[in-house]
Amino acid sequence: ITSKLPGHSTSIFTVMTQMALKHGAVNLSQGYPNFETDKELKDLVSKAMNDGYNQYAPLAGIQPLREQIVEKIENLHGKRYDRDSEVTVTNGATQALYLAITAFVRAGDEVIVLKPAYDSYEPAIAFAEGTPVPIQLEGKNYKLDFKTLKEKINSKTRMLIINTPHNPSGNVFSKDEMTQLENLLKDTNVILLSDEVYEHIIFDEEKHWSASSFPHLSKRAIICASFGKTFHNTGWKMGYCVAPEELMVEMQKVMEVNVFCVHHPTQRAFAEYLKMPSHYLELGTFYQEKRNKFLDLIRDTGFRAVPSKGTYFQLVDYSEISTEPDVDFSRRLITEYGIASIPVSVFNKDQLDYRQLRFCFAKTDETLEKAGEILSGIK
Ligand code: PMP
Ligand code: GLN
Repeated sequence: ITSKLPGHSTSIFTVMTQMALKHGAVNLSQGYPNFETDKELKDLVSKAMNDGYNQYAPLAGIQPLREQIVEKIENLHGKRYDRDSEVTVTNGATQALYLAITAFVRAGDEVIVLKPAYDSYEPAIAFAEGTPVPIQLEGKNYKLDFKTLKEKINSKTRMLIINTPHNPSGNVFSKDEMTQLENLLKDTNVILLSDEVYEHIIFDEEKHWSASSFPHLSKRAIICASFGKTFHNTGWKMGYCVAPEELMVEMQKVMEVNVFCVHHPTQRAFAEYLKMPSHYLELGTFYQEKRNKFLDLIRDTGFRAVPSKGTYFQLVDYSEISTEPDVDFSRRLITEYGIASIPVSVFNKDQLDYRQLRFCFAKTDETLEKAGEILSGIK
């Protein structure tokens, strides 16, 4: 058998989590909360099951949930999507990304991917026989150079994938950067795939600038979101995407043959739960406390960090402690010290290695304190 993904190996998240389990390490590698989702939300799912919502949902998702999604986006970003033709509820953001890529990328099409990038983009492009065009974000702080981006756009460019707030760097695109992007794409046919799964996890004075709030971006943008990130239930694999009707029609063709629809009772629960905006608007404050706690805990160590602006990840520079490659160092942290992280080079173009690790701080205070204690002992 000839593999369609010959270069592909097991995801770094799976590898590190398995290693962490094997060695009983504190796991700050794979991005998921180690605390419970809200009981009220779990009760809503049980209620929906007991109320008999156990058969197929409509392909696009149930109408009350699509209505809540449309209202949330309008309230936050001022853009009103059409509930019936521009929203699809998906099996996590991962499926939304996959629908977008497979619906539009043809053999030979180029897709620009900003590195470091989340690991599902490029394999999906490969399945569609497209060509990923990686652009490494500049320097240790990973800034987009618009000149480089402009140079890479040509008649073969089908799609550009962005992610803000950004995993793993914790950067967010500013209004000015989104405006530059808008100006750059305005006169092209490039589809913008905007991965906004960390939209509500945003810190300090930062604001999340969604592609939906820029008219020349929203008319070409597919925006992906994840309930798992927002409501602490990554294992439910629920998310959604919004896009102009002409794009959504094509994505729904893929959806129909891919899964048809997603878990019905959970959709009922989210439709209720989203009626209370505090359930997502307070997320930034909640995670900012965790980020600050983690930063305090590593303050007097040799690990150096520029505070994350969004996401539940913190990048940490260990070059004062070791010159080992990040893959080796992160493995040694598990086996010798009992703490798991993600080496950042695996997300970078050509495995560029700045001696940085990514730590997930979506953890209980107790777990963060244990992590802090271990990191303090690493010289
Ligand atoms: N995009 C990014 C940047 C992510 O970090 C993740 C989750 N780790 C996803 C997409 C996928 O989200 P979901 O779990 O909802 O499929
Ligand atoms: N998005 C999560 C992370 O970045 C992992 C998701 C997964 O394991 N596929 O850690």
